[in-house]
Amino acid sequence: MEDVRKSYPGFVLRATLEVPLGQTLALLGPSGSGKSTLLRLVAGLETPEAGRITFGDTDLTPLPPERRGVGLVFQDYALFPHLTVYENIAFGLREGRWNEARIESRVREMLELTHLSPHARKRPEALSGGERQRVALARALAPEPRLLLLDEPLGALDLRLREELLLELRDILRRTTVTALVVTHDQAEAFLLADRVTVLRAGRVVQSGSPEGLYLRPQDVWTARFLGHRN
Ligand code: ATP
Ligand code: MG
Repeated sequence: MEDVRKSYPGFVLRATLEVPLGQTLALLGPSGSGKSTLLRLVAGLETPEAGRITFGDTDLTPLPPERRGVGLVFQDYALFPHLTVYENIAFGLREGRWNEARIESRVREMLELTHLSPHARKRPEALSGGERQRVALARALAPEPRLLLLDEPLGALDLRLREELLLELRDILRRTTVTALVVTHDQAEAFLLADRVTVLRAGRVVQSGSPEGLYLRPQDVWTARFLGHRN
């Protein structure tokens, strides 16, 4: 995204950032720094007041959300409660008018990728938090998005499950060619998942770089403290 601007009363986001194709970028920053706003702009759920958002050669800025090729995973999962796991994952494929044979094979593939095959016929209410999280991920990945947007994907889970799913998510991101933007306020999570990290503060990019580079060479005292340095 280039010179993208979005404002709310008392808040202005102004950001330029780039993610190499196929890589994962973690967006780190305190509450209210604009992380979700940035993802919503990329998804097309908000319209920028200025600037451009492109993917490869495609200008996404004028496209509606459904034509941007993005998959979304939010903290609260937002699964369809009346649909089975299978049907939750198939939902976007039916919308995209995939034929039944392709839907079936793609859903099976996603069930295996996320270790959900034994739960295919259950409804979300009969799943644990971690299983629901994996359904949300499978549903987002099923239509083969070019770009995966994850907003605090593990936020609602307890520590043990978080750690377990974190490794699984990392594995999934590595095994697929999808480009991903992951919002988190957890530094350890960002450093484990991402090829690059961008730190936001009050709507501005403070620093971008490799996880190691950021940790070893924080740009200023605020970033150093935010990344967990003691002095
Ligand atoms: P958190 O870590 O708490 O999720 P965030 O970094 O995702 O925070 P945003 O949700 O992007 O923060 O919000 C950035 C700022 O914009 C906040 O001050 C918020 O109050 C404001 N804001 C976000 N959405 C709206 C809206 N629809 N209307 C007005 N203000 C908004
Ligand atoms: Mg947020």
